[in-house]
Amino acid sequence: MKTVDKIYINGEFVKPHGTEVLDLINPSDHQKIGEVILADEWDTRNAIAAAKEAFKTFSKSTVDERIEYLERLKNAVQKREKDLTDIMIQEYGGTFQFCSVSNQYTGSWFDTMIAAIRTFEFEKNINNSTVVLQPVGVVGIITPWNASNSSVCSKVATAIAAGCTVVIKPSEMSSLQTQVLMEAFHDAGLPKGIINFVTGLGNVVGTELTHNPDISKISFTGSTAVGKIIAKTAVDTMKRVTLELGGKSPNIILDDTNLEEVIPTAVFGAYMNSGQACIAPTRLLVPESKLEEVNAIAKAAAEKVIVGMPENPDTNVGPMVSVKQFERVQNYIRIGLEEGATLLAGGVGKPEGLEAGNFVKATIFTNVNNKMRIAQEEIFGPVLSIIPYKTEEEAIEIANDTPYGLAAYISSEDPERAKKVASQIDAGRVCINGFRHDPMLPFGGFKQSGIGREYGVYGLDAYLEAKAILK
Ligand code: NAD
Repeated sequence: MKTVDKIYINGEFVKPHGTEVLDLINPSDHQKIGEVILADEWDTRNAIAAAKEAFKTFSKSTVDERIEYLERLKNAVQKREKDLTDIMIQEYGGTFQFCSVSNQYTGSWFDTMIAAIRTFEFEKNINNSTVVLQPVGVVGIITPWNASNSSVCSKVATAIAAGCTVVIKPSEMSSLQTQVLMEAFHDAGLPKGIINFVTGLGNVVGTELTHNPDISKISFTGSTAVGKIIAKTAVDTMKRVTLELGGKSPNIILDDTNLEEVIPTAVFGAYMNSGQACIAPTRLLVPESKLEEVNAIAKAAAEKVIVGMPENPDTNVGPMVSVKQFERVQNYIRIGLEEGATLLAGGVGKPEGLEAGNFVKATIFTNVNNKMRIAQEEIFGPVLSIIPYKTEEEAIEIANDTPYGLAAYISSEDPERAKKVASQIDAGRVCINGFRHDPMLPFGGFKQSGIGREYGVYGLDAYLEAKAILK
């Protein structure tokens, strides 16, 4: 049993003023693994005050100083890679396969920002006047449970690169991971107050961050529903807002694709992070003439998916993070059946032998119509929808026909053809022939998948204010 009873303010681990206790439950077996004492508004205001004070000095730091801090943060977090993987598996049931790879990327968030600011022009000359790009101020960072470490690290790296100080409110469901990150950031030995952590509830700590006039910007990753609340609240104090929200990503299989090669990858891809990934390719768009062939390959692939205990290196799909999330996914499977989609694999109920945890069967629906709720709404579980299309134009139309626009995937033997299709897709990131990760490229959503971009120089821009000095 672990107790998280400290938050991190002004370079020190302190007991929260808040007293509410939240139990942390292992999603694999429903055993209590720890508890967290939740911080409150008072704690949040203290952290904001520390970050505001630290901003006075840190905002004037040189690029070389910031690079040194980024290096130190990278080294400190990388030292804790194994601890982070172990605790992620326990805390939210992330699979070893997913968590170990995700933590290997941790260093890349810091390296990218180091590379970005080495050449970035924080001061420019335009028409004999000067344009200065200065740090926006104290940033409130609010992150989700499903990508806690990578969200925190990518946002912190960008803030530090820009010269901003931060107050981080991770998901309360990521408290054990947060504990490891707090310790790592502390070990990096940055000046006091630059990085502060306040673990608490969204409608307490998150609400204080979005209301408080001393916060200049909110960088949020989470659901579209909460993103809308944050945007509405933040406007009262005219905070800058970056929102990384939900997705319902299409995976377009063009008719020249080698199906035997690509369909199994598409099935496993839809189940990334046990289906709890914003960028998961959950809508598989296939030529109608090849639907039967796709169904057969997809069904065979689903039978190979191992749903099981997340610490087992062979497991592809672990439990859902919570009972609530399990029920939500079950409900969507029922909706799919009621809507008349054909169940190809999986279905309602838990897989045999896994009744003690929040496990969902690896599920595939086929003959899905894109108007169905299972095709339009983010399920956030291992549920794939196969949607037939007649022409390439129709595939593009279906791909774009959701409220979301975060990621998209296209497969074709002809990369130029795929690129032409990519240019017509409304999504912030389009991957051709397989999944790619490059933290230097902009990341963010069209439509209701968000506002603004993260990563690299595009992300940096969102942490800076432009000031023109005319002489
Ligand atoms: P969530 O929106 O429920 O919570 C996200 C964070 O917001 C948590 O820290 C939560 O405590 C906080 N919060 C809740 N209510 C708040 C309020 N009123 N004011 C301020 N903060 C509040 O999301 P979740 O369930 O933790 O994560 C899953 C969602 O995140 C999915 O929709 C997923 O698609 C999305 N996501 C998006 C990306 C991306 O990069 N676009 C990445 C990961 C996850």
